[in-house]
Amino acid sequence: MGSREVTEQLDWNGKKVTVAGLGVSGIPAARVLHGLGALVTVVNDGDDERSRAQAAELEAEGITVRLGDGATLPAGTELIVTTPGWRPDKPLFTAAAEAGVEIWGDVELAWRLRGPGAAPWLAVTGTNGKTTTVRMLASILEAAGLRTAAVGNIGVSLLDAVLGDEPYDVLAVELSSYQLHWAPSVRVHSGAVLNLAPDHLDWHGSMEAYAADKGRIYEGNQVACVYNVADKATEDLVREADVEEGCRAIGFTLGTPGPSELGVVEGILVDRAFVENRQKNAQELAEVSDVQPPAPHNIANALAAAALARAYGVDAKAVRDGLKAFRPDPHRIELVEEVQGVAYVDDSKATNTHAAEASLAAYDPIVWIAGGLAKGATFDELVQKSAKRLRGAVLIGADRALIREALARHAPEVPVVDLDRTDTGAMSEAVREATRLAHAGDTVLLAPACASMDMFTNYNKRGEAFADAVRALAATGDA
Ligand code: ADP
Repeated sequence: MGSREVTEQLDWNGKKVTVAGLGVSGIPAARVLHGLGALVTVVNDGDDERSRAQAAELEAEGITVRLGDGATLPAGTELIVTTPGWRPDKPLFTAAAEAGVEIWGDVELAWRLRGPGAAPWLAVTGTNGKTTTVRMLASILEAAGLRTAAVGNIGVSLLDAVLGDEPYDVLAVELSSYQLHWAPSVRVHSGAVLNLAPDHLDWHGSMEAYAADKGRIYEGNQVACVYNVADKATEDLVREADVEEGCRAIGFTLGTPGPSELGVVEGILVDRAFVENRQKNAQELAEVSDVQPPAPHNIANALAAAALARAYGVDAKAVRDGLKAFRPDPHRIELVEEVQGVAYVDDSKATNTHAAEASLAAYDPIVWIAGGLAKGATFDELVQKSAKRLRGAVLIGADRALIREALARHAPEVPVVDLDRTDTGAMSEAVREATRLAHAGDTVLLAPACASMDMFTNYNKRGEAFADAVRALAATGDA
């Protein structure tokens, strides 16, 4: 029955495929399918200058493009390949369901197009920590001498990875909940769900639907389903999954691991899952200090990456070497500079409350710079959990009042500076105010718990503005 067999026999010649959405995944998908002989029509909601230019290029190659109407199903469509971000309740998909037309996302397409003997996938999903964990995993696999790449939501596109000439042994794949939603037949070697917190609920419709899409990563796993012992919802998803016979549930924990778990004992990352006689034995993998930054949530990421690598058969030394070689991407708990005994840390990538909670748990005392676009989030729980570590808070951005009110409710003694400006100098002022509140030994932490687009192009720009202000402060004493 495997989907693989279906794929290998699939004849694309003359097949009418509708690609939903021009863009980073739609355009390459359209080209690849056209190259295979399919009759491709791209439909796109927008009809602006950029999409017109893209459409003209594709049309010149023989691909039909319909701009300004992403809702109507083109006549005769036999398959839809969608941009993962398109919401499942779009009229195009309702029409497809009524017509019995299958819908694949970019990941499903890559899966179906991979050749015989293709590299197995080790996959990671979760609300936060995916990119970090996948990059740690790729670093470990490389240290083991394997030909690999970090692919999916990051780095090389999955389509390029499966169709390119590079002969990979194994792929480290990041999968978002959207991608999993549209990937019904993907079956990975081993998969991990790092954590589950409410996010993107407007897209999925409910927490249950979001969790169910994340849980798809475990379907048909061959060797291991890796879950977070501290996040019961991830373990529940393992229980609900249909896996291959012999596939094991492997937990990771920041505490002492039980049998079939990876965990931490006296500052050492240890494996009690992929060892002989796991009732009695444990294998030392690395030291906590080998992981950068050694914040608790990041140790959890390292354990998840190690679990997937060990499931693939990687030895303990490669786990350690790979973790030591790993450097986090910018704006993820990045120490910018220490100025007069105060550490300035950029976690601009903390764009939701769950992420911010993790970095706020890693420092004490903290002057917290937060705010931006809340995306419907509430801040009471975050403030309650972090209140005792807060020296002060500086609030920026459109929805800062929500955080101010949560602070007033749960941490009324914490001094708050509310910055009512959104111009380019706002971050410099935020850093200046934070510096004023900080004492030597404190951490000034940019962990906004919000999206950045009210004030910045993206979280990178927000982090850069912070780092620039900190460096100016270090150079001149004035941010
Ligand atoms: P993703 O790819 O899932 O967005 P990243 O690895 O880019 O995740 O990390 C995003 C942010 O999430 C980080 O800046 C950090 O604040 C937070 N984070 C990372 N790992 C975890 C984790 N395991 N649990 C909670 N928050 C985390």
